Amino acid sequence: MTENLNPFAIAQAQLDEAAAVLQLDPDMHAFLREPMREFHFTIPVRMDDGRTRIFRGFRVQYNDARGPAKGGVRFHPDETIDTVRALAAWMTWKTAVADVPLGGGKGGVICNPRELSRGELERLSRGYMRSVARYVGLTQDVPAPDVNTNAQIMAWMLDEYETLMGHHEPGVITGKPQALGGSAGRPPATAMGGIVTIRETGRVLNIDLRGATCAIQGYGNVGSFAHKLAVEVLGLKVVAVSDEFGGIYHGDGLDYAAVSKHARQTGRVPEAPGTEPIGNADLLTLDVDVLIPAAIENQLTAQNADEVRARIVAEMANGPTTPEADDVFEEKGVYVIPDFLCNAGGVTVSYFEMVQNAYQFYWDESLVAERLDKKMTTAFQAVHEMAQRKKVSNRVAAYLVAIDRVATAMRLRGWV
Ligand code: NAD
Repeated sequence: MTENLNPFAIAQAQLDEAAAVLQLDPDMHAFLREPMREFHFTIPVRMDDGRTRIFRGFRVQYNDARGPAKGGVRFHPDETIDTVRALAAWMTWKTAVADVPLGGGKGGVICNPRELSRGELERLSRGYMRSVARYVGLTQDVPAPDVNTNAQIMAWMLDEYETLMGHHEPGVITGKPQALGGSAGRPPATAMGGIVTIRETGRVLNIDLRGATCAIQGYGNVGSFAHKLAVEVLGLKVVAVSDEFGGIYHGDGLDYAAVSKHARQTGRVPEAPGTEPIGNADLLTLDVDVLIPAAIENQLTAQNADEVRARIVAEMANGPTTPEADDVFEEKGVYVIPDFLCNAGGVTVSYFEMVQNAYQFYWDESLVAERLDKKMTTAFQAVHEMAQRKKVSNRVAAYLVAIDRVATAMRLRGWV
């Protein structure tokens, strides 16, 4: 049988597995299998050549029992409603595991931002916000950056929202530039949170990570900061990194300053000076201690899981591992730090950003880092202890922790 790579089918299968362990009430289970609300819309954009192009956009509010929906907006040519649904479901579990008072949401637009001029990208971003403005807000749903969206796009969306509403509301969107109310420490937050979980993994497995080897797939916001922090904070030797154009390798470790400079100048990592090329598929099966998928979904599958040699897989990307690959990792004793735990640092600092916006009082980067560390360490411990106690995988354990918190809020509200 061929593997089902539909991200939402995978998210539902993961929930089903955890629900069986929990003996979750069937009505609660049925409720949690589907998004509470979703919006589909068309976004007309005036292109530079004078024509109008129509883009398709989505916003999914998966569950808001614990607080306003929260989740990024992704611009991608292969975007589908099922990807957005899956990512919104994972946001629900992520905010619960991180224990921030938010629900789960996600958005997306089917587009290739690399084919758009800056002006077209701005008009598309503003168009997205116009389409969702009445459904988002500090108390309803708070978007943020994700794949192919960044602080500048958040700034355009914020401006569009505030222009439409006629008042300032910086907390309507997170991942903004600091000059517009963004939080110090937000750009590295996802990677930093993941690094904390790798540090804690080293502690529970009693592995000395200094000088241990690491490979990273993806060199965007998350992957490039992961390279920097893996070296600076953990003393890991990052021997390979990649992006959608290919990968690079150096057995003695890749120099972050040199690779990131090359990536900034050329827009890609291949051919960074002093490195050898490596394919994305080969990077995933390198003989390293820590593998960090930090790109997109479905990278570790039934096809390659058996060949993965890493001892620790730290899922900084969302949904990089399929259920079949999970089974293989479980059998091989690979320590998987599941995505909605490993990459919860981003939403945690986004929540800090909302708090600072509400108070109009801003924290310095060291305070953000300290509070992030505490949240991530606590979340890691909750999941690790659950896995030990129930004798389940870390992924199932993360679901058990998260489902319990979301279900408690739903019961208290009288929904089920
Ligand atoms: P990004 O757009 O900044 O970077 C994505 C990177 O992945 C790019 O380097 C791109 O070239 C690379 N890539 C894409 N397809 C690839 C492929 N097939 N093989 C190898 N590399 C490929 O995105 P990002 O914000 O860094 O997000 C990366 C992952 O982390 C996504 O799964 C995202 O959902 C997740 N995530 C991001 C955040 C955040 O705060 N940005 C938070 C939580 C989770």
